Amino acid sequence: MSDKFDVIVIGTGAGGGTLAHTIARTGKRILLLERGDFLTRELGNWDPGPVFVDGRYISPDTWYDGDGTPFQPQVHYFVGGATKMYGAALYRLRPEDFGDIRHIDGISPAWPLSYADFEPWYAMAEWLYQVHGSHGEDPTEGPCSRQYPWPPVSHEPRIQGISDALAQGGYHPFHSPCGILLNEAERPASICIRCAWCDGYPCMVHAKADAEVIAVRPILDMPNVTLLRNAQVTRLETDSSGRQVTGVVVERGGDDRQEIYQGDIVVLAAGAANTARILLRSASDAHPAGLANGSDQVGRNYMFHNSKAAIALGEEVNDTVYQKTLAVNDFYLAGNGREWPLGNIQMLGKSNAEAMKGEEPHLTRLAPNWSLEDVARHAVDFWLTTEDLPKPGNRVTIDEDGSIHLDYVPSNETEAAGLYAEFRKILNHVGLARHHVLHKNYYMGMNIPIAGVAHQAGTCRFGNDPATSVLDVNCKAHELDNLYLADTSFFPSIGAVNPALTVIANAIRVGEHIADRLGASLPAEARAPAPRTEPATPASTFSRKR
Ligand SMILES: Cc1cc2nc3c(=O)[nH]c(=O)nc-3n(C[C@H](O)[C@H](O)[C@H](O)COP(=O)(O)OP(=O)(O)OC[C@H]3O[C@@H](n4cnc5c(N)ncnc54)[C@H](O)[C@@H]3O)c2cc1C
Repeated sequence: MSDKFDVIVIGTGAGGGTLAHTIARTGKRILLLERGDFLTRELGNWDPGPVFVDGRYISPDTWYDGDGTPFQPQVHYFVGGATKMYGAALYRLRPEDFGDIRHIDGISPAWPLSYADFEPWYAMAEWLYQVHGSHGEDPTEGPCSRQYPWPPVSHEPRIQGISDALAQGGYHPFHSPCGILLNEAERPASICIRCAWCDGYPCMVHAKADAEVIAVRPILDMPNVTLLRNAQVTRLETDSSGRQVTGVVVERGGDDRQEIYQGDIVVLAAGAANTARILLRSASDAHPAGLANGSDQVGRNYMFHNSKAAIALGEEVNDTVYQKTLAVNDFYLAGNGREWPLGNIQMLGKSNAEAMKGEEPHLTRLAPNWSLEDVARHAVDFWLTTEDLPKPGNRVTIDEDGSIHLDYVPSNETEAAGLYAEFRKILNHVGLARHHVLHKNYYMGMNIPIAGVAHQAGTCRFGNDPATSVLDVNCKAHELDNLYLADTSFFPSIGAVNPALTVIANAIRVGEHIADRLGASLPAEARAPAPRTEPATPASTFSRKR
């Protein structure tokens, strides 16, 4: 195999996998370097024991918190990255998220691009990842040039009842945007059976729209694309000027054997924390504080959302299987008597007794006559998200062994409490007053707060000013001519909705820029995926209610 390529992409998750998919049809020689392997399809994929209790798919990494206490972070090293485990709730940020937003603990800063600038790539991302939804239902969403490719996933009866009760109470419930492959036209080989094993589990039948299924596998038989698995990038080397990445240093197969690959363009997309780690480990005479880090911004402004999970119990049995279909953004923005923006409320994947075991004493105290199995049968699961702020002191650093240290202090706790208060009103309204709140990380099977890094973002923000940002508006490092970043590290702020669609949209955007730079034209259908055979939601639903 040659060690010279036109483009090297490091990481095959939402950012790297999607970017590789975007540029694959240019015919340029592309090398994908992925630290993990394919995630094995096995019965354990859909078993809460191995997944939640044993943490079979969580990396054995050790990171350290600000006090130097070790913890095992919730990171997933596979082809497809974190999307192998994600819940595929694929939200756009709201237009306001692209501007300055005043929060109780400070300003969530503006992006160098507006929502209108970003919109075409959101539409492409929704079509590429086969999102089911209905633009126009949520009064907080921005204008959309294209309806989702597929109608929303319908609510099961229990969730429809909650949605109806909310609407009657003057709220604006809407269908969550879901990236699942429900139709034969989307995925003839194997379609989603709407099981309960989506959010936090790998999909055994490959019917979740994750980066492996949607972006990486479809390009693997192209002669210009090479994927190296179990290939961990440790460092990037530059020429003496420090402007060009000349070598990507890789450890293969877990041993110390090193290989060096060369690419005219290098795209780093290892996830927000690991991308910062690789840059910091690449310090040299030309870049003494770490590659692309003349501004001292690499690793800073780490964000991961101020979130909670809540299990609510009603008298009625909740026999919902696919529960992630409903969301409410009535408290997303300030206004209507609220001084501060509070965030998003959405449904979580349906919980089960096995995954709830750690919470047994609290849950059975809520309903003393019920066993944990009874509690699980009646449980309705919610996820509350408040924006956290990019604080310079919330940062990734590395020690002399190259291990990650993560300093993090949460922000906007008062807003999170406000969202929880609104949530309690909602529960009263829909007859679910008994409930128990779980710390987010505990819910995800982690017992140290900082370990729940699922929504990690920031660390290398993009911006116009090289003194305060790492990347320019095209996500090229200000200080290098051929290094781009394409994971969530580019986020200047994180909003209060799930991050994956935004990193996917940005990866398409950056991929198109790289294709243009290489003088390679992309076929039209690569820029705007063609309509599918099944009619999408009628255009009449395609207006904004605001
Ligand atoms: C349980 C869970 C549920 C989630 N649910 C949702 C959801 O419903 N909606 C949503 O929007 N988001 C969700 N997310 C978050 C979403 O998955 C991430 O925001 C998204 O995948 C981030 O994309 P990325 O490209 O930045 O990183 P990743 O997708 O993690 O990709 C990084 C890739 O880089 C590889 N890598 C790391 N280090 C190296 C190295 N040194 N060398 C080579 N390769 C390397 C990794 O193995 C990985 O493949 C969830 C995440 C988790 C864990």
